Amino acid sequence: MKKETNQAGTDFYDKRNNEKQLIRTDIQAKSSHSIRMEEKIKELIRQSQEAKGQAYCPYSKFRVGAALLTDNGCYFKGCNVENACTNLGLCAERTAITKAVSEGHKTFKAIAIASDMEDKFISPCGACRQVMREFGSKWDVYLTKPDGTHKKMTVDELLPISFGPDDLCSLKLHTIIDETRHCVNWLQQCSAAT
Ligand SMILES: [Zn+2]
Repeated sequence: MKKETNQAGTDFYDKRNNEKQLIRTDIQAKSSHSIRMEEKIKELIRQSQEAKGQAYCPYSKFRVGAALLTDNGCYFKGCNVENACTNLGLCAERTAITKAVSEGHKTFKAIAIASDMEDKFISPCGACRQVMREFGSKWDVYLTKPDGTHKKMTVDELLPISFGPDDLCSLKLHTIIDETRHCVNWLQQCSAAT
């Protein structure tokens, strides 16, 4: 009887210890994950500042750099690229996103944006917010200052109640006829008749 009690007590003690160990391991894993993430964000901000050095902005004289971190840990840099035909200028954020997508990356963890404004966090323009939104609304945007201080926001916070790819699949009151299919059907009917 005594043995059984001890056994039960030992089992209970072991179970409690295992649970504690599991909690400890979980906390350690979480804290090492957040340390790794902190390092990645530091590197992301550093790369956005580096990208700013390549800015081609002879008209605005306003340098912007961006660095994008993909879900699988790749970094892509971009800078603003202006043009004599003003409308053709491209922002740093969209340069970085376009580079990443053209290399096969479509899921992103974060983007950092850098400028030379000393007393203001650089904020993305409306067009860039919409392009970010195309690839999800839950990922992070780091608005930075040259000293590395930053403000973290999500795409959703920057562009609330947004329009995205899913909206194209929503139920619609009016359906546009697929003219291409209509044309193919008509050609098929013509060739069958001859
Ligand atoms: Zn922009």
